[in-house]
Amino acid sequence: MNILQLMPEFDRESFRALLVPLQQGKKEKIVFDTIHRRKDGSLYPVEAHLQLSGHGKDGIGVAFILDLTERRKMEEKLRQQGEFLRSLLAALPVGIFIIDPASHRIEEANLEAAAMIGAAPEEIAGRSCWEFFPQSAGRCPFAASNEEVERSERLLRRKDGREILVLKTVKRLRTDSGEKLVETFVDLSERKHLEEELYRLSITDPLTGAYNRRYFLEMLAREIERARRTGLPLALIMFDLDHFKDINDRFGHAAGDLVLKSLVAAFKERLRKTDCLARWGGEEFVILLPDTAAEGAASLAEELRRRLGQMEIPGVGQVTASFGVTGYCPEDTVDTITQRVDKMLYRAKKNGRNCVCACQ
Ligand code: GH3
Ligand code: MG
Ligand code: MG
Repeated sequence: MNILQLMPEFDRESFRALLVPLQQGKKEKIVFDTIHRRKDGSLYPVEAHLQLSGHGKDGIGVAFILDLTERRKMEEKLRQQGEFLRSLLAALPVGIFIIDPASHRIEEANLEAAAMIGAAPEEIAGRSCWEFFPQSAGRCPFAASNEEVERSERLLRRKDGREILVLKTVKRLRTDSGEKLVETFVDLSERKHLEEELYRLSITDPLTGAYNRRYFLEMLAREIERARRTGLPLALIMFDLDHFKDINDRFGHAAGDLVLKSLVAAFKERLRKTDCLARWGGEEFVILLPDTAAEGAASLAEELRRRLGQMEIPGVGQVTASFGVTGYCPEDTVDTITQRVDKMLYRAKKNGRNCVCACQ
């Protein structure tokens, strides 16, 4: 085979041009990639190292030819692997940063990370990871450890400045091209929101939105402990709607429900944030009043009683309630103080209803 049959990428002209630097002595050797043809016509990639030996008519060309078939296959395999890893990064439903540990620059951010931040991956690459996790700014968790050293709830700062709660894990990755940090993070804000909602539901009464009895008892136990420790006063009000059975009978259960809801809404507005209004059961409620003595609680109960009497409930008109009031005494427990306030409420009912009965 002549040289042009062997090298289908060249014709006479281009091959001559290739030799010029060698013939002029400007180069001793030229190295180039091309394609060679076998006798059977099949092609294969090669790397050619071409030199001239001797001059003029006696000169001969000497070429070392390396068959690149295997190398090309490897390169293709690596390329495919790289592509696979990139599509894997893009498909994972967690945010991922690949970070250079020396500079804390983000070398790569996947699509999920970009979506969480509200920016394009190209906008994120090259920035410092601390821009997005300002809580960690200046602090690298990878001082000496080889293990996964950080797994924590962190605020991720979005492009629009809003912050969302994420669970972040940082891992060290050793590669041939040096060490990297891989940060993965999942959005917790949705779950956090759900948790808070579940908690709220677990401590409130669904009809009225007042706290439920279980939560009230927990709070009462805590406040009794605090009153014992600090010597500050603590009071309870318990009230029960008067002749509520009649209201249901006359106006219907839905109207009765509306009374309960309206009453809670109105009383909540009057009470302090630290007070705890809870539904004790049925049409009976309790109010926990930290830092309040029995006399103060009694005048508050009187005010609530008057307010309720003045309320005009659609479809019902006016309703009344009877109130019991008591204050914390040394040695009181949850049981003794609730029994005492219940006794005061019973006395108010006996005294003709729509009134307040208080004791220390
Ligand atoms: P008293 O003045 O002695 O308290 O009389 P009363 O009728 O209010 O007391 P009683 O205990 O006989 O009746 C309570 C009524 O409250 C009966 C019950 O149907 C009603 N009730 C309890 N829970 C609810 C509720 O969630 N919605 C409505 N509409 N009524 C309720
Ligand atoms: Mg009642
Ligand atoms: Mg009752």
